[in-house]
Amino acid sequence: MRILIVEDEPLLRTQLADALHAAGYAVDAASNGVDAHHLGDCGSYDAVVLDLGLPQLDGISVLRRWRAAGRSMPVLILTARDGWHERVSGIDAGADDYLGKPFHMEELLARLRALIRRAGGHASAELVCGPLTLDTRNSRASVNGQALTLTSHEYRVLAYLMHHRDEVISRSDLVEHIYAQDFDRDSNTVEVFIARLRKKLPPGLIKTVRGLGYRLTAAE
Ligand code: CA
Repeated sequence: MRILIVEDEPLLRTQLADALHAAGYAVDAASNGVDAHHLGDCGSYDAVVLDLGLPQLDGISVLRRWRAAGRSMPVLILTARDGWHERVSGIDAGADDYLGKPFHMEELLARLRALIRRAGGHASAELVCGPLTLDTRNSRASVNGQALTLTSHEYRVLAYLMHHRDEVISRSDLVEHIYAQDFDRDSNTVEVFIARLRKKLPPGLIKTVRGLGYRLTAAE
């Protein structure tokens, strides 16, 4: 899962990036509206945290442009504490949720988890596929109740597949959703992550769909 953070205040931007990294996400960050618009327009994000008061181009305009261009990723806006009118404009411009500043990081993380799982059509914070469970609240995966030890990239691959259970996911989709923008991407490493995951998971859960990609499914 890959998140875009848009925040012009350097300390808050760093705090957000650190907290999201720690929660297992790939993270890109922008500090002004123009960069934010560009990143959101060409990157594949599973969610965006968007501050509204931004230099160069304000957050509402950025959001309107994304939505007008058909970019439908979930967007959580950050607003002034008493900015009810800002929230109304933000939601009308296409925001999916909002949080007033200052906020608790735990609440932001919970709201992001909810946005991401709703976008994937999941009702619960615990994603299940046969014997495999992924608890998005603590970024832990387990098989029949036994915790799995995963590297951060293995976790990202597994989390993306779990959020898109039963769907065919191409290698390039995985690359887009597990790496941040500035990371040296190599789609061959996806195969390595899949091979390692297969060794840790019950046989047959991750299926290869020839020429197309992978499908995580408990079905035969
Ligand atoms: Ca701001």
